Amino acid sequence: MKIIMLGAPGAGKGTQATRLAAAYGIPQISTGDIFRENLSQGTELGKKAKTYMDAGELVPDELVCDLVADRISQADCAKGYILDGFPRTIAQAESLDAVLAKTGEKVDFAVDIEVPDEAIVARMAGRRVCAKCGKPYHVVSLPPKQDGVCDDCGGELMQRKDDAAEVVTKRLEVYHEQSQPLIDFYAAKGCLMTVDGTQSADDAQAYIQARLEA
Ligand code: AMP
Repeated sequence: MKIIMLGAPGAGKGTQATRLAAAYGIPQISTGDIFRENLSQGTELGKKAKTYMDAGELVPDELVCDLVADRISQADCAKGYILDGFPRTIAQAESLDAVLAKTGEKVDFAVDIEVPDEAIVARMAGRRVCAKCGKPYHVVSLPPKQDGVCDDCGGELMQRKDDAAEVVTKRLEVYHEQSQPLIDFYAAKGCLMTVDGTQSADDAQAYIQARLEA
């Protein structure tokens, strides 16, 4: 099963992708995570991506498409995968289609998680992540047991640089301009699933799985 997650930054793509990956035993491929890992390892790709990420802009397509094509050709993707944060532009979607077409494959589901902008801004302001293990938290909806400390590894909880209010506004702008057109793109292919992202993560997951298995 090849699934892609659509939706604004902070809509819950990553949360649902993690849950679906566990439920179906297929990998979650997050381009944002790949860039952040490269950044922390100081690779050339990480350095190139950093300027764009810090500004809330998209990393250029040519730095993303080959990376994803390479990742989905690996053995653990044979039974399917969940793309979380890719494609984010029509050009990226077309590039993915072209790669899949070579082996007669296609995207099975495009899951679009819808959340109004105002709710996104409030969500992102409270988002925290463990600096050590990457576990996500939220100061209101998913607080750690001890303020600022990761429940799992004791690491310090940080705000992602691109979750700062002015960067979030920019990321939403970029989403509406460059990524929202993907909704019509996948609707036209007949594989779009629209999910209300304001419901609880459990309810959203149950809804998505029921539709995937229908
Ligand atoms: P995310 O964690 O998915 O919100 O991604 C964080 C940042 O990584 C984004 O704001 C972009 O700068 C960059 N990024 C992640 N995925 C892509 C993509 N498919 N195309 C371009 N830039 C991306």
